[in-house]
Amino acid sequence: MISNWIDKLRRESFTRRYAPHQLDAPLLAIEGVSLQYETGSVLQEISFTLDHGDSVAVVGPNGAGKTTLFKIIAGILDPDQGIVQVSGHEPGGHTCIAYVPQRNLIDWSFPATVADVVMMGRINKMGPFFWPQANDWAVVREALDFVNLSPFAKRQISELSGGQQQRMFIARALAQEAELMLLDEPLNGLDMPAQEKILEILDTLKGQNVTVMISMHDLRLAEEKFDKVMLLNKRLLGFGPPKEVFTRERLLQAYQEHLHFVGGEIDTLAVSDECCHGD
Ligand code: ADP
Repeated sequence: MISNWIDKLRRESFTRRYAPHQLDAPLLAIEGVSLQYETGSVLQEISFTLDHGDSVAVVGPNGAGKTTLFKIIAGILDPDQGIVQVSGHEPGGHTCIAYVPQRNLIDWSFPATVADVVMMGRINKMGPFFWPQANDWAVVREALDFVNLSPFAKRQISELSGGQQQRMFIARALAQEAELMLLDEPLNGLDMPAQEKILEILDTLKGQNVTVMISMHDLRLAEEKFDKVMLLNKRLLGFGPPKEVFTRERLLQAYQEHLHFVGGEIDTLAVSDECCHGD
């Protein structure tokens, strides 16, 4: 998978049209976006805008369309309807967007070091021969330092823990000088300390005007750690401060029979993504 990315990045770099940024436009503007796979409708009439430095937790049940939305924003998929604009221009050609897929989709046995992967973020900044210059190595070192992975720079990527793998991808996005990071379920399978480290890094990025969209399943963490949440289930069921979005009605609309209010309070709810048959 990583070798495919290198090939893809190299091919694209020869033909890349660098999309200009319109300074007075919002970082991300989505208007009436819909998409249907052959299996059915996945996203319906999604509209929202994000500003520089926004940090948004995207929540919704499995199959809600979170990954599909990220792929549309990253320019990997085209919507059937609607408009996507990143800093005033369509997504293709933006090197300011970093999309980090779910970890289980990546071949971790590929022989690459942590520094190699982070350097991949520099490919669009390099000259025609893709030979890293001193400046590129300086950026990579700084990015690794930012995510506390400097001692791991020369390690093979297969030797990293799940949390370290995720931090490596954040470093790659930083090396890319990304203004918009799309992180697809980066906290899945991580213990609390590893999750906390990533959330701390994302919090620091907010102060640096980097915009982050992160899909996740933990509603409590989304409410505690993010100023804005997006509740998605094919339709945009709510977007804004968690207290306004996480109402009983909206959560029921999103999770339907998978949502259980324990003791009747919103503060004590349980969500199951899998259906429980029988007992
Ligand atoms: P989420 O990230 O919220 O789990 P996804 O965007 O991955 O949701 O998927 C939304 C729906 O679209 C799911 O029902 C999934 O099975 C379906 N889907 C995703 N990718 C494809 C595809 N390439 N072709 C057909 N159906 C797909």
